[in-house]
Amino acid sequence: MRGNSGPIRNGTAKNILKIATEFNACEICGANDWHVIYDGPIRDGSYGSLRTGATVARCGTCGVDRLVEKHCPDEEFYEGDAYRRRLRQRLTTSAYFPTADKSQEFVFQVLGYGTLRNKVVADVGCAGGSFLDHVAGVAGQMLAIEPSSIYHESLRQRGYSVYSYTSEAGAEFAGAVDLAIAQQVIEHVRNPLQFLQEIRGLLSPGGKLLITTPNRRDILMDLLPDDFPPFFYRTVHRWYFDTASLSECAERAGFQVDGARTVHRYGMSNALLWMRERRPCGDVRLEDIEPQADRMWRGYLEGIDRADCIFMTLSVRK
Ligand SMILES: [Zn+2]
Repeated sequence: MRGNSGPIRNGTAKNILKIATEFNACEICGANDWHVIYDGPIRDGSYGSLRTGATVARCGTCGVDRLVEKHCPDEEFYEGDAYRRRLRQRLTTSAYFPTADKSQEFVFQVLGYGTLRNKVVADVGCAGGSFLDHVAGVAGQMLAIEPSSIYHESLRQRGYSVYSYTSEAGAEFAGAVDLAIAQQVIEHVRNPLQFLQEIRGLLSPGGKLLITTPNRRDILMDLLPDDFPPFFYRTVHRWYFDTASLSECAERAGFQVDGARTVHRYGMSNALLWMRERRPCGDVRLEDIEPQADRMWRGYLEGIDRADCIFMTLSVRK
């Protein structure tokens, strides 16, 4: 399926030319130290839609992986409904809730309960505001930061202070936010360092940030080297992290890392079906793969940092 199977050879004229002409200084560390780690088809929206000939390169200095800029959408892409259309998602807030509500379970596993009474909470890239709904009634003021205008009216109706970008919230909330959360957002943005610095500007001296992003060390990347990377890499994700490179970026943005772990959000059936069918099969349970197998599988992957998603808790460095 890949355009070129086998290991990437960085000494080739083609790859030297690609790095020289298509990659600029790293947005996180400023180095010009890229090498190609993937060259082939990537997902463009939902499964089955591919963009061919895409290059992903790794920064040898800070460790981040980056999709070549020519395949990445601009920020304006996220301001209307184009992003959700590309994913073939329905465009109402009510259509967004079922999946989003389910995913909050993993956030509370990491955050714990009982810590947010009267606190100022910001959800950066909140989409329809599922997380905020889950802490409403306990938290104090709540900021809904979301570029897509399709959610704004509904968010306002629910009493949240709505902003398109973090920088717009600064005039009122700089230094005032006790907890910020950014779920599955940093991989989309133009500049992850600036993204984290702007959130840090909102936080109070003891403020915390929880950030989640796909784990590029997801075990399926190695178990299915031909079939999973063209699904994992996608046009809407500019950046690909592991826990080490995300920690590096956070520290450069003025945070200290309080906790870095991976969380697996799928059962064992998901991996077995990927192995059998070599494609995503949805949230299906195979016969005799019981919840106890899921717990064992999740625990194992999380123990070796190869679960599908990174959850990192950060605090402002003093
Ligand atoms: Zn770098």
